[in-house]
Amino acid sequence: MLIDLHAHSSVSDGTQSPTDLVAVAAKAGVDVLALADHDTMQGLAEAGEAGRRLGVEVVPAIEVSTSWRGADVHLLAYWPDAHDAALAHMLGAIRRGRAARISQMLAALAEAGIEISEADVRRSAGPTASLGRPHVADALVAAGVVQSREEAFATLVGEGMAGHVRKPAPPLPQAIATVRQAGGVPVLAHPWGRGSRAVLDEVALDELTGAGLAGIEVDHLDHDPDDRERLRAVACALGLVATGGSDYHGTGKAGVALGTDRTSPQAYQRLRALRGGAV
Ligand code: AMP
Ligand code: ZN
Ligand code: FE
Ligand code: FE
Repeated sequence: MLIDLHAHSSVSDGTQSPTDLVAVAAKAGVDVLALADHDTMQGLAEAGEAGRRLGVEVVPAIEVSTSWRGADVHLLAYWPDAHDAALAHMLGAIRRGRAARISQMLAALAEAGIEISEADVRRSAGPTASLGRPHVADALVAAGVVQSREEAFATLVGEGMAGHVRKPAPPLPQAIATVRQAGGVPVLAHPWGRGSRAVLDEVALDELTGAGLAGIEVDHLDHDPDDRERLRAVACALGLVATGGSDYHGTGKAGVALGTDRTSPQAYQRLRALRGGAV
């Protein structure tokens, strides 16, 4: 049973449509795939349809942008009610903040002598419902300023670089509560990945468990074997479900294939049992 609970489509910053993504999953032998686009549920209906056609169980999900103690923290939400008004309102506000932040980033880049227009970014972004730094990175590649998304992040749009502007995001506990009341199952994405390690120690994870957190993504490429072992122990101690996923972005993230990191069938069953549960 191959269960990959973290993938992106071109509805956010992946490079394949939801249909093409599910087709790649089917070919790779993935049995269960979660489409978790950043801050949007727009691709879920299409992915579900493709899953039924191609024999892949598609888990509807979102990767929600949140803030916690000054850091950007990503929260995966599985099986949220797509019609929940409070959740839709929260995601809409994040997406509006994302769009507004693009012009601030372009102004910052211009100050550094790099002229990219909003039209350039829109062109690179294609059908996305959720504009982000990867689309600015793609526009920089298209303009010949850098060679790849990775180089753009390393030199211009990554944390602390000249073109980086943080996006507004709801506080993590509020996002956890909103996901829960929408019947979703909240799981912290890559807790010890870039930027969030310092603010997500065991004490913080304990506090978040009290706020309704259901799991942590242990098996993720941002975590080395030692991190994984320690996070698994923390999950066990706090009663959190330990999950895993590839964080696949198509060609947008080099060297990552669907299914490289996965969730055990036991962990998946535990998550499923929490669907639709009230806090
Ligand atoms: P944003 O949400 O607009 O701030 O953009 C952050 C997203 O960019 C992350 O969720 C990743 O998908 C992607 N990303 C972050 N760092 C890199 C990197 N070094 N190379 C490629 N993509 C990255
Ligand atoms: Zn992404
Ligand atoms: Fe993430
Ligand atoms: Fe992701």
